[in-house]
Amino acid sequence: MAWTRREFTRLGALSTAAIAVPGAVPDIFAQQQERVGFAVIGLGVIADHFMRGVKQSQRCKITALVSGHRDKAERIAAEYGVPKDSIYSYEDFDRIRDNKTVQAVYVALPNSMHAEYTIRAAKAGKHVFCEKPMALSSAECQQMIDACKTANVKLMIAYRMQYEPLTLKCIEMVRSGKIGDVVAFEGQFGFNIQPGVWRTKKALAGGGSVYDVGIYALQAARMFTGEEPVEIKAVASTVHKNDPRFAEMEESVEWSMRFPSGVVASCASTYGGQMEGFMRVHGVSGTLEMGPTYGYDGVTMRGRAKGEHWEESNPEKDPKQFEREADHFAECVQTGRTPKTPGEEGLRDLTYIEKIYESAGVKL
Ligand code: NAD
Repeated sequence: MAWTRREFTRLGALSTAAIAVPGAVPDIFAQQQERVGFAVIGLGVIADHFMRGVKQSQRCKITALVSGHRDKAERIAAEYGVPKDSIYSYEDFDRIRDNKTVQAVYVALPNSMHAEYTIRAAKAGKHVFCEKPMALSSAECQQMIDACKTANVKLMIAYRMQYEPLTLKCIEMVRSGKIGDVVAFEGQFGFNIQPGVWRTKKALAGGGSVYDVGIYALQAARMFTGEEPVEIKAVASTVHKNDPRFAEMEESVEWSMRFPSGVVASCASTYGGQMEGFMRVHGVSGTLEMGPTYGYDGVTMRGRAKGEHWEESNPEKDPKQFEREADHFAECVQTGRTPKTPGEEGLRDLTYIEKIYESAGVKL
């Protein structure tokens, strides 16, 4: 007989902490369930992290691959035990509807392809776990949400940091008043991009670094304040003016956000230089900062207030963050719960990204 989660919890076999932080202890409830089968769409860098995360997960397995490169797909299929007839090309992807081993898809494609493959997957009756940024525009996000609602499938956006335990602990510290009332936030993320990659093509990326990495600072500002911005002002700029990498987009963006409480956030992102992932919250009686942060591991915090001093790093190694978000999504599929980061969360960010670029005078 399969026990329900409530029965387990009542028996004390699972602590509530174990539920709140998936992956903290072996989840006996999860081990009773049939694993959720994922089709991975796009076999690039992030898909590799995700698949390694699934390998050590409690609720997921890779059951199909979608790729334009058959050789690569066959090599990865052999590694993950995926049968050859569960490898699809982009053209014949819709046949996945008939594959009963696939309950969900993981969309790990360039940004411009997120909407199309989310909608095609929903029409095939598959739940969708989609990489950030959710899409190129808020209009596309809404279409994705509508398609998943119509098909009655779950939609979750891969916001790793919303599942990262040290980040969650820091949010709790700030919200519980450890540094006093928050007055200001700073956040940044960027890197020196390679020439020729899809991220430098507007048609595939949607826009510049805010879509790709600035979104982490935007998310952090919203998570740490618990508020939604009511005013956004931005400046876009390029140092390397004749650099072909910046032919279609700006090099850097700086933007400010004002929240209803009056808190102001000052954020930046770039594709032109090494800008380590960082954020700092300034409170009336102290400061809490995270850096490096937003990475796949090594998340570190420090802070001080009212005579107290904190310093902590999360010792977990990549791909733990991917395991954790995959298990959360699988649990939602298994139990019918709504993911913590649903399509509506991705839509909110795209709405703000559009406002950032509009304020900076950049046409998307
Ligand atoms: P990548 O270039 O490494 O992989 C992209 C994949 O898409 C490749 O397998 C490529 O073959 C395939 N593809 C299909 N059509 C393509 C086309 N027309 N042009 C280029 N590639 C095409 O990219 P990535 O770094 O894995 O990023 C994929 C998505 O994941 C992006 O949306 C990105 O923002 C997101 N991402 C998320 C995180 C995170 O931490 N959550 C980190 C990196 C990337």
